Amino acid sequence: MLDLNGLVRFGPDVEWINGEQDVMSCFLNRFDYSVNPTRCSKFYPVIRKYFPNLNDGSLEPGYSGIRPKLSGPGQPPSDFVIQGEDIHGIPGLVNLFGIESPGLTSSLAIAEYIVSKYLR
Ligand SMILES: Cc1cc2nc3c(=O)[nH]c(=O)nc-3n(C[C@H](O)[C@H](O)[C@H](O)COP(=O)(O)OP(=O)(O)OC[C@H]3O[C@@H](n4cnc5c(N)ncnc54)[C@H](O)[C@@H]3O)c2cc1C
Repeated sequence: MLDLNGLVRFGPDVEWINGEQDVMSCFLNRFDYSVNPTRCSKFYPVIRKYFPNLNDGSLEPGYSGIRPKLSGPGQPPSDFVIQGEDIHGIPGLVNLFGIESPGLTSSLAIAEYIVSKYLR
């Protein structure tokens, strides 16, 4: 993908966080968001399948963040979860959980679904 600065981005990569300690440090904003540069070694052979002229040492780490997920390591990906008053009983509250890719592409369809189901 080309970003707004004209740089080519590959990824994303995923690294599972571990247990209670990591989860607590996320909440307390003490989580170490630095990206381990050695992780890019596994990117080279994969990217060269469609970008064969990629030079050794040309990849640089991007940024990291916490992606909330409904399915864990080794589990199949979960579908989006949409919960309205019929599920949790609170009028006017709609929960949207696990809106992973293609959540942006699906956003207008999700909005139409919510309007038709909960806002009429
Ligand atoms: C690398 C990557 C590439 C992607 N590419 C695509 C793509 O090509 N096409 C596509 O359709 N989708 C793509 N997606 C998925 C898409 O980005 C998501 O589906 C979409 O952003 C979900 O929207 P959302 O509003 O549910 O959550 P988010 O966009 O994650 O918004 C949640 C917001 O809540 C804020 N927040 C979280 N906790 C708190 C709190 N406690 N208090 C206050 N604010 C809080 C967060 O900071 C964030 O701003 C991609 C996702 C990633 C990570």
